[in-house]
Amino acid sequence: MTQVFVVNSGSSSIKYQLIDSRTENVLLSGIIDRIGEPGHAADHDDAMRIVLAALGDTREITVVGHRVVHGGSRFTRATVVTPEVEKVIDRLSALAPLHNPANLAGIRAASAAFPGVPQVAVFDTAFHQTLSAEAYTYAIEADVAKAHGIRRYGFHGTSHKFVSDRTAAQLSRPLSDLKLVIFHLGNGASVCAVDGGRSVEISMGLTPLEGLVMGTRSGDIDPAVLFHLARVAGMDSAALDDLLNRRSGLLGMTGTGDMRDARTAAAAGDEAARAGLNVYVHRLRHYLGAYLAHLGGAHAIVFTAGVGENSPETREETIRGFEWLGIEIDRARNEAPERGVRVISTDASSVTVLVVPTNEELEIARQSLACV
Ligand code: AMP
Repeated sequence: MTQVFVVNSGSSSIKYQLIDSRTENVLLSGIIDRIGEPGHAADHDDAMRIVLAALGDTREITVVGHRVVHGGSRFTRATVVTPEVEKVIDRLSALAPLHNPANLAGIRAASAAFPGVPQVAVFDTAFHQTLSAEAYTYAIEADVAKAHGIRRYGFHGTSHKFVSDRTAAQLSRPLSDLKLVIFHLGNGASVCAVDGGRSVEISMGLTPLEGLVMGTRSGDIDPAVLFHLARVAGMDSAALDDLLNRRSGLLGMTGTGDMRDARTAAAAGDEAARAGLNVYVHRLRHYLGAYLAHLGGAHAIVFTAGVGENSPETREETIRGFEWLGIEIDRARNEAPERGVRVISTDASSVTVLVVPTNEELEIARQSLACV
């Protein structure tokens, strides 16, 4: 038996899974959180020692796979970590100050905890390195863009890749023949257009702030809002960052960043909740139209992650109004309390609409194994 150990190291937590590489079963999973708080793990090394104790016998672990958020333009695929790779991930912290340092701390702690076991970095951005220049370029002065790496990178790539493969399997067609629009709707949310297995559009940009309305992030906004607030409200870059990343989105509009709570409030007559949900769905429909245009039509529209997998209302509201293109949700299928991969469109629908549960840990495990 061989095993893959998957690590998702954040600034204050380490989530982990031990996966049997042959059966792909999860043998053990857990989370060490509140790292750095009194009475908890002091730092990532300390947290990894606790994980190691929980694991017991680690002799079967052949590779450790790490989620790394930003791979810049440098990483187009999962990569075995070397000192040079560590340096690049560290340098890319400028583009992902909340994520890359924490991911790197996890890599360093695991390297010390599993001496001699290869560590693989699996990047959220890698899947989107297939974007064309017209899709990834922001229309700003070219020298400034070049000097600072300003372009669209895209995120959630591990999930979009996993869901692409799973969708092709479900449709019994090669991925190379398929055009897909995939909505990853969790606390963070993004939509991806996939053509023949290649990401051709992604709603997230330089950072995971652009695009859809999210739990606490604004998504798309006129950039002039920032200079305006700097002038009229005296907000500095830290305050603006906090506003758009942590106090906006569903939370900012409705008072809760959690889709379940927002839906419950709206159903009970809370007008701010209803209005906020309408903005959320309006943006989803905006991107669906745009991505169908970019792809020149699609074979499937796919919903995944917490909201996508569990909120039939959100799915129905997104697709409603696309009947003129022949796209139709089947109400009973959409509302059935199932959990697995499922088709929710009618048999007559011109585009198959599916729910496909994502599994980023399994995708990280697969890519890490394939790397070594
Ligand atoms: P994730 O980041 O993928 O864990 O997704 C988190 C989001 O999924 C939160 O907004 C949750 O409210 C939402 N979610 C989870 N379960 C449900 C549900 N049964 N109905 C609606 N939204 C849900």
